Amino acid sequence: RLQLEDIRKNFGETAVLDGVSLHVREGEFVSILGPSGAGKSTLFQLLTGAEHADGGAISVNGASVSGQNRDLAFMPQRDALMPWRSILDNVTLWLEVQGMTRKAARAKVTPLLGEFGLAGFENHYPAQLSGGMRQRAALLRTVVQERSLLLLDEPFGALDALTRTSMQRWLEVMWKRHRWTALLITHDVREAVFLSDRIYVLSARPARVLHEFQIPLPRPRDGSAK
Ligand code: ATP
Ligand code: MG
Repeated sequence: RLQLEDIRKNFGETAVLDGVSLHVREGEFVSILGPSGAGKSTLFQLLTGAEHADGGAISVNGASVSGQNRDLAFMPQRDALMPWRSILDNVTLWLEVQGMTRKAARAKVTPLLGEFGLAGFENHYPAQLSGGMRQRAALLRTVVQERSLLLLDEPFGALDALTRTSMQRWLEVMWKRHRWTALLITHDVREAVFLSDRIYVLSARPARVLHEFQIPLPRPRDGSAK
């Protein structure tokens, strides 16, 4: 479903991605681990179409990647929310862009605000929330789109250990329920092991795939086996 082959990317003289090849199969949860500055977010931006590769090939469900991919929902590492819109408007934004009425989008999102610790903050602006609350709002906005492919760049980085654990559990439940195909970028080895079917470890910049691990523990899934 998601395939990267020999991806190269330079910023000026600096090589950031040095021939990265990886894939995510349908229904699989894959994590990418790597040191800070390795090029993980750069890889993410290539997948969302925000940046273009200097070499190699990327395909999402067989099609080459473009800015608007209807199968893809993503959460960037930074600046996910629009500062001039309320939290509620931020969370419903993509649903409305996809053609849902404001009323329907609000009806869909409102029951989830409590689960995300955002109840009572609907009309606040992002700057009035903590970093962790902003991150949860950005995650909620991403998952309510219910696309088949989920891309998350350090979605829990700003959360305290307790909130992080509960959000990880929530993500696992949602992933099983919706059978998403997911690619998670994280620094957190335990998080990657807990959530993933497979893990890629990248080298320091310029990034190459150093290791690929299959998580050997059996992962019970609801419904029929794949
Ligand atoms: P972190 O774990 O800290 O988020 P990362 O692995 O996501 O790090 P990137 O953000 O992809 O790392 O950055 C990789 C390298 O590319 C860094 O050296 C960074 O300075 C450089 N870089 C990223 N974006 C740009 C840009 N737009 N212009 C120039 N250099 C960039
Ligand atoms: Mg990053």
